Amino acid sequence: MPGEVCVVGAGVVGITSAWFLAEAGWSVTLLDRSGVAQGTSLRNGGQLSYRYVSPLADAGVPVKALQWLLERDGPLRWKPQADGAQWRWLAQFVARCRGSVNRRTTQRLARLGEHSRACLHALMAQQQLPPFAWQQPGKLVVYRTPALLARASAGLPAGPAPDDAVQQRWDVAQCLAHEPVLQGLAGRLAGGIFSRDEAVADCHAFCFALMQRLRAHPRFRGLVCDRALGFEPGAGAARLQLRCEAGVLGADAFVLAAGIASRHLAASAGLRLPLYPLKGYSLDAPIGAGHVPPRASITDFERKLLYARIGERLRIAAMVDLVGEDERIDPARLASLLRIARADLPAAGDYDQAQPWAGLRPATPGGAPIVGASPVPGLWLNVGHGALGFTFACGTASLLAEAMAGRPTTLPLDGLAWGADT
Ligand SMILES: Cc1cc2nc3c(=O)[nH]c(=O)nc-3n(C[C@H](O)[C@H](O)[C@H](O)COP(=O)(O)OP(=O)(O)OC[C@H]3O[C@@H](n4cnc5c(N)ncnc54)[C@H](O)[C@@H]3O)c2cc1C
Repeated sequence: MPGEVCVVGAGVVGITSAWFLAEAGWSVTLLDRSGVAQGTSLRNGGQLSYRYVSPLADAGVPVKALQWLLERDGPLRWKPQADGAQWRWLAQFVARCRGSVNRRTTQRLARLGEHSRACLHALMAQQQLPPFAWQQPGKLVVYRTPALLARASAGLPAGPAPDDAVQQRWDVAQCLAHEPVLQGLAGRLAGGIFSRDEAVADCHAFCFALMQRLRAHPRFRGLVCDRALGFEPGAGAARLQLRCEAGVLGADAFVLAAGIASRHLAASAGLRLPLYPLKGYSLDAPIGAGHVPPRASITDFERKLLYARIGERLRIAAMVDLVGEDERIDPARLASLLRIARADLPAAGDYDQAQPWAGLRPATPGGAPIVGASPVPGLWLNVGHGALGFTFACGTASLLAEAMAGRPTTLPLDGLAWGADT
């Protein structure tokens, strides 16, 4: 029987968890130290990237990573630290850099992606959410190296694809015809793959839209603004309680959805979550009358950089920095991002007015989130969404609600559960 649940963290993962749990019959309290979606869900890339879910850990990545570290504007930075968590995570990451592991995880995440798409679409249809800049403009992944393009398009049918094919391989001329903003890159491109059913939206606005519906939900008890300090054994019948700065919260169940901070809170309950912060950057540039923004969202595969139009703004997101739990904006990395954007897509937006942002992706070594029961009675997990938290949020929240109801889940949780090879 659903009872009282406290969801810790009001990012996109916590808010969707709260919604699906309220729908499943739980009385839900949401707790956050800084309000709604002020963490990594604030200004991420905005891609709902259901088809591009392959984790970073793959064969050849450790060698590639060494090359990236040497590049001036490379996508990767690593500051070795006297931090056991960093070294443990790196060792686990390297152990998963195998083609077979990558393929298995990609298959699981692709199923999760399709489930997440279906859950978000059902939510949008049923709740008539306030606008959050959702669009389905498709996604164009461009490649600079012919061999990489050939490898990526190996699964697509040979020969010219029909115009309505969901995924198509495009030559450079087709890329430019669809995206004139790529003109400056023309001589350096090998082509691209266009997926017409990929979407973009403003993650922060989505969180506010869903919060609006949640506040009106008959089983929503409210958003508590307080900092959780740690779990402790509950008094009386309660198995667990949560100590916060302002006092103690009790509930029949707790859901940990606090992004990268989940590590510390889980540790207070004796759990070591295999999470590490992968810091990334975004720019948010206004699109003016003279600009040529991308029509689709564009991913530059080799640069590991994405451009997406979100309403009247251009969002550029990139970079993976292993520098610990440090959200500060490094001026050198910001300069790199601006340099690349100005050089590659000079006409896409007003870079002089671009607002920079940095956030911490809560990443597991293998790239799959952890969803479901924890070994601590009364404590449930929805953590570790890494680079795809917006994409997967509705899917993992609906699976969590099913698991907490003791029902068989729509997708098997085997690759996502605590203790799985995430
Ligand atoms: C540069 C960049 C680009 C990205 N692009 C995309 C993209 O295009 N598509 C996509 O799907 N994903 C993308 N992501 C990933 C996505 O943003 C994350 O996976 C997602 O935001 C994680 O959501 P979350 O709710 O788990 O964490 P968060 O959004 O960080 O939320 C955690 C919440 O917990 C709260 N909290 C923490 N500690 C405590 C405490 N002690 N007490 C109370 N509250 C606490 C915080 O205040 C915060 O609100 C990107 C990430 C980055 C950095």
